Amino acid sequence: MGNWNHTEARGSSHGTMRCTACGKQVESGRYRYRQKSKRGDWVYQVQHEACCLEDSAWAAMDAQQVAHEKRMAELSAACAAFKKTWGVSELDDYIFDEAGA
Ligand SMILES: [Zn+2]
Repeated sequence: MGNWNHTEARGSSHGTMRCTACGKQVESGRYRYRQKSKRGDWVYQVQHEACCLEDSAWAAMDAQQVAHEKRMAELSAACAAFKKTWGVSELDDYIFDEAGA
């Protein structure tokens, strides 16, 4: 049995998308999945985030997202400040909130 993978229901699909913990369809939010051998075939085992909250990967994903957003905000502010001084418009790709700089 493989390790769990974690993903968003939006834009991804694995097997029947029926949660093996509560029996309902996984339609939105995050879920985890892994491949499982069943009578010689590989099937996907899928579970809602809410049905496996003990999985520490969710908290790790949240922390990663927060760190990513913080980094992008800091990068945006730094690029906006640099652009103001040096007039380098190539930095526009990194500036998300010019007014906030
Ligand atoms: Zn469920």
